[in-house]
Amino acid sequence: MDIPYILNVLGEDEYTDVNPVAPPIYQTSNFFFRTVEEFRNAITSEKEYWIYSRGNNPTVNLLCRKIAALEHADEALAFGSGMAAISAAILSNVATGDHIICVRNPYSWTDTLLNRNLLPRFGINVSMVDGTHSENIQNAITPKTRLIYLESPNSWTFELQDLAEIAKIAKAAGIVTAIDNSYSTPLYQNPIDLGIDLVVHTASKYLGGHSDTVAGICCGSSELIDKIFKNEFLTLGGIIAPQNAWLLLRGLRTLPVRMERISNSAEKVLDFLLGHEKIEKVFYPNHPSHPQHELARKQMKRGSGLITFQTKTTDIQKIEAFCNSLKYWKMAVSWGGYESLIIPSCTFVRPGLYSEIPSNFIRISIGLEDPEFLTQDLERGFELL
Ligand SMILES: *Cc1c(COP(=O)(O)O)cnc(C)c1O
Repeated sequence: MDIPYILNVLGEDEYTDVNPVAPPIYQTSNFFFRTVEEFRNAITSEKEYWIYSRGNNPTVNLLCRKIAALEHADEALAFGSGMAAISAAILSNVATGDHIICVRNPYSWTDTLLNRNLLPRFGINVSMVDGTHSENIQNAITPKTRLIYLESPNSWTFELQDLAEIAKIAKAAGIVTAIDNSYSTPLYQNPIDLGIDLVVHTASKYLGGHSDTVAGICCGSSELIDKIFKNEFLTLGGIIAPQNAWLLLRGLRTLPVRMERISNSAEKVLDFLLGHEKIEKVFYPNHPSHPQHELARKQMKRGSGLITFQTKTTDIQKIEAFCNSLKYWKMAVSWGGYESLIIPSCTFVRPGLYSEIPSNFIRISIGLEDPEFLTQDLERGFELL
């Protein structure tokens, strides 16, 4: 299926006979039946019938079909946040006594789920490994390993994992693989084609694309998605509202143009940053300066809009002055909307608190503005560094 077909044709004529050009929002909690027989029949399968919107809703369903098609997956489920999707994907594959391998420095709340607030309470063991070398993953496998959780690239330093190689290792050992593919979007990387089992996304970033929705996606084979649907999805109930699913459907239609603009602008901003006298180091996966650039070329189509740089100065006051002076860049968490954003690591790295990230790192998210304005703004600010 080609992308334009997926984005504005697939599934769009199914639930209506009035031919709307934009898909309808089915803002309903439940669906009625005309006969007891119909009702009795439907209740045997939450997934196949319209019964209750914690299970199935036409607007949400349309979104899922499109994202599954974009990720080359059998099926997808949409959740109320990226973390709800990630939690469901992980919980679905483990029980007490099991072991998970996760790549180091994943998204911060994924780390919290695995190592602090939740899984430790249920006796699930986690090994955090450097995934830049696949043999580290191979060596961490135990007879209890049930899940290998990847994030390629991860945020901040954009470390990659060789997805095809790790999928092969996992398959040989009968272990499920899952990846957070939020950075690349389904347009730039399709892990299922490389043998990965489950793909999760925060849809709050590029998929939604307008900084107005928090949502998540999990896709994979019918077998794995069915298991998540019956257990974590229906029982934990972390669903997305129809209105928010519709915002994502609208966001998806412009995903290809937004990503092209963002990646082109990112390359311009990257050129400006590389070799700048105030900058020590720049991190971007799809550039020859990245240590895994070859792997990035092999498994990703392009880099998206996140860039991290390390300033030469370690003086936090100067870094603060630089950030405070910016006119176009907004200081905020998250990324993927119209607005270019900036987040200095000194907001969360504190003296005396160990962090893998030094306090003079700054991560920027390139938005849709003219990149000339963005680099001029940075240049003005760099005078304060
Ligand atoms: C934001 C983010 C998440 C979490 O998604 P939410 O929608 O905020 O719950 C997960 N992974 C990555 C890489 C993220 O950037």
